[in-house]
Amino acid sequence: MKVSKMYAPTLREVPSEAEIPSHQLLLRAGFMRKSTNGMYTYLPLAWRVIKKIENIIREEMDHAGCQEIMMPIMQPAEIWKESGRWDAYGAEMVRLKDRHGHEYCLGPTHEEMVTTLVKNDVRSYRQLPLNLYQIQDKFRDERRPRFGLMRSRDFIMKDGYSFDRDEAGLDVSYKAMYDAYDKIFTRCGLNFRPVEADSGAIGGTGSHEFMVLADSGEAEITYCTKCDYAADIEKAELYPIKAPAEEMQELSEVETPNCKTIADVCAFLNAPIEKSVKAVAYQCEKGLVLCFVRGDHEVNETKVQNTVGAVELEMAEAELLAKAGTVGGYMGPVGLDPEKVIIVCDATVMNMHNVCCGANHEGFHYINANPGRDFTPTYVADIRLMAEGDPCPHCGAPIAKARGIEAGQVFKLHTKYSAAMKCTYLDENGKEQPMVMGCYGIGVGRTMAACVEQSHDADGMIWPVAIAPYEVLVVPVNVKDEASFAKAEKIYNELHKAGVEVVIDDRKERPGVKFKDADLIGYPLRVVVGPKTLQTGELEVKVRKTGEVSMLPLDGDYITAI
Ligand code: ATP
Ligand code: MG
Ligand code: MG
Ligand code: MG
Repeated sequence: MKVSKMYAPTLREVPSEAEIPSHQLLLRAGFMRKSTNGMYTYLPLAWRVIKKIENIIREEMDHAGCQEIMMPIMQPAEIWKESGRWDAYGAEMVRLKDRHGHEYCLGPTHEEMVTTLVKNDVRSYRQLPLNLYQIQDKFRDERRPRFGLMRSRDFIMKDGYSFDRDEAGLDVSYKAMYDAYDKIFTRCGLNFRPVEADSGAIGGTGSHEFMVLADSGEAEITYCTKCDYAADIEKAELYPIKAPAEEMQELSEVETPNCKTIADVCAFLNAPIEKSVKAVAYQCEKGLVLCFVRGDHEVNETKVQNTVGAVELEMAEAELLAKAGTVGGYMGPVGLDPEKVIIVCDATVMNMHNVCCGANHEGFHYINANPGRDFTPTYVADIRLMAEGDPCPHCGAPIAKARGIEAGQVFKLHTKYSAAMKCTYLDENGKEQPMVMGCYGIGVGRTMAACVEQSHDADGMIWPVAIAPYEVLVVPVNVKDEASFAKAEKIYNELHKAGVEVVIDDRKERPGVKFKDADLIGYPLRVVVGPKTLQTGELEVKVRKTGEVSMLPLDGDYITAI
């Protein structure tokens, strides 16, 4: 490849909406272009990286005994109604109708599709286990697409699904996928950590997320500094909090049955609380519970920061909560979509009064909950999230926290879909049994972006060789100097012949410009040839990652050395 011909339009000015390094650098270096909100075109350099990541995934999936298939992106509504997710999935799913009025969605994930496929073809225990995967565009109408490929609406996912005879089989399949993910992210050159996760909207229990460690990560993870305990925010253990003494007098303790994690609290509340709820529950008079939410959230596109947070629930969810007698303190700021309910609350019991009075009462609300005036709070769950320095629940060593990017997730689905959709097989005794399923996703574009987050400097990206768009860049310092340019071309051709993925910067640009672009794009190795190096009979080789420069003799075997 010649740089003069390469379609990699660089940008001087990066749009201000690009807030994090991967988004900025991928735009600046001409790896991708935005098409519209949350949708991107991958230009040749990005596409090469994507294909390399996909190939690593394919090799490890195939090695683990999985088989690749390709399912349609558009899926009929019927199968989603069968599983019960047509209504449950919410606004993230894009729904459409064909010319005959039949309803479809653009697949945000493919459990329904693959379950339908397998149930029609697999009858006997002899055909199990089975593990199918695809690498394909997914569409999710994210509430707030951002950070470029990190959270886009149209994105490439590897999604895989295992079918087993029983739980023991699922354990084996799950472990095989867990290990394959470990290899995939290691081969991609990433610093990552598998963490225990809540299984969210996909359902089922037993799940791990593969978190790439990076400051810009949207996820908060908790891990042990000694053993390999690690969990995401929903799964992290909860610890007792000490409420201020005067509050404690008002509050009397109530048993919180087995609530050890946020997921437990949500289950205890019998509440389909959105995953981002970092709830601490307080029960009020009449059996109501206020959910205290922490972290940054948005209320009507206004950022609510720090300790105050909000959770937006669909009307149906709010009603469910109200029916279950679990939630008070519904507040509706003016201008609120009447189909939505917002709970505004605070992380600490101290601020409860502020919170309940702070919201505007003119809007819709269920209960104008004002502690002291409208109810006397009773204290239910005196719990908080695990904090830095807390003892590890497994070994007692201090806990640390980090930010992570969820690049992949593995789930045990058990029989959630197979039972609902009647995906069964006949066992050894001729008895009909539901297949026991697992599902396994990797965000391919997100993995690429995560790699840039982790591996860049002030000058640009630094690709690990395994997924670099090209391995070596040859820079002729002066294309007008015939002798050295010819030598550079010769080296380029030889490297190419030897199977090295190589680019030559044949542009009539100053060396400074070429070096800048080389660093921005992040080729792992840069080879410089010019009149001076020719005179000394050497090549200058620079390693992008370390900045280390070495001189190789031109008459030696520089190909092997490179
Ligand atoms: P998130 O918590 O970030 O919204 P998710 O848990 O909803 O992700 P999964 O359903 O587990 O995502 O999908 C599997 C993988 O697909 C994720 O681990 C992630 O790498 C990727 N992914 C999910 N949503 C997006 C998106 N909007 N843009 C890019 N990649 C995504
Ligand atoms: Mg999501
Ligand atoms: Mg997630
Ligand atoms: Mg996930």
